[in-house]
Amino acid sequence: MLQLYRSESGTRRWFCRHCGSKIVSEADGWRGTYFTAGTLDTPFTAPAPIHIFVRSKVAWYEIRDGHPQHSTYPSEWDEPDPS
Ligand SMILES: [Zn+2]
Repeated sequence: MLQLYRSESGTRRWFCRHCGSKIVSEADGWRGTYFTAGTLDTPFTAPAPIHIFVRSKVAWYEIRDGHPQHSTYPSEWDEPDPS
């Protein structure tokens, strides 16, 4: 069972009513709907890994896997800066 919350900016987020986990996020104008990876129960072929919202990571954690890092969304995604 999911519970919908709407932020002031118009983002819609659905959370699990039992444990509070965020399941889905979307908003008008977004390119897609975002699902929490842990909700997937079938194999899927993931695109090449990248790191997004690196600006929000803790300072003591260093990302060392060599995959591209983006401060927020990659510019080619054409998503609005959420700040
Ligand atoms: Zn839950």
